[in-house]
Amino acid sequence: MSSDFTQYLRMDKMPHIFCPGCGHGIAMASLLRAVGKLELDKNKVVVVSGIGCSSRIPGYLDFNTLHTTHGRAIPFATGVKMARPDLTVLIISGDGDSTAIGGNHFIHACRRNIDISLIVLNNNIYGMTGGQYSPTTFVGSRSTTSPYGHLEPEFDISGLAKSAGASYVARATCFHAQQMDKLFVDAVKNKGFSVVEVLCQCPTYFGRKNRIPEAIDMMRWQKEHTYTAAQAKKMNPEELEGKWMRGVIHNQPRPEYVESYLELIKRVGGSEG
Ligand code: SF4
Ligand code: MG
Repeated sequence: MSSDFTQYLRMDKMPHIFCPGCGHGIAMASLLRAVGKLELDKNKVVVVSGIGCSSRIPGYLDFNTLHTTHGRAIPFATGVKMARPDLTVLIISGDGDSTAIGGNHFIHACRRNIDISLIVLNNNIYGMTGGQYSPTTFVGSRSTTSPYGHLEPEFDISGLAKSAGASYVARATCFHAQQMDKLFVDAVKNKGFSVVEVLCQCPTYFGRKNRIPEAIDMMRWQKEHTYTAAQAKKMNPEELEGKWMRGVIHNQPRPEYVESYLELIKRVGGSEG
């Protein structure tokens, strides 16, 4: 495996747009390490995105990339996978893009179990559009549209993916980048719909509005508010309260959509027309 990840970057698109301390660069580097580890042919990798800061990532990647419309990365990626099942199809999305505007696509892609890996960079806010609250903004958190504290409870993205039927679900954080590499590798290897939620810092909006403007403090929060399955065994309910499990949340292979579809075509093809 080569450690020269510039081979996967479009250097002519640099410098990138991310603010200093943004978690998106950490997640992007982790994804490139995962692609390197898997030794994927970059001409056979497709990365699709919708709209948002996270959705700018494919623009910097020297794969086959599609920057689509808000919330619609999953339908575009589904079309690609249906037409070319031989390609590795990845989606990079944000919390707003995949669980608000694209929320319906998200749950049905999980149910369908098509062989696509969805990476959701969850920074609990809409970054690109100016810091509005998203479906994962915490109760009491401030945003441009909840200046006195947010009233709605947040979505648990990984829990939602598991309930809706995704065959592989994991949660990573930008603090635990090495674990993120491994989870991305496992997600791509899974033959079915994989969701990796990444707890990701947005110091510019979420941090500044909630009085944690330094990226390092936001990453410390990720460290202190997550636990592994092994750590959970030694923690009591009070210690678990308000914290999130990281690592593999769910891994249960089941029939993959494109394979089932092609089998169906083969089965009924002779009797049609
Ligand atoms: Fe990152 Fe937030 Fe800046 Fe967007 S606004 S690039 S999410 S820090
Ligand atoms: Mg966001």
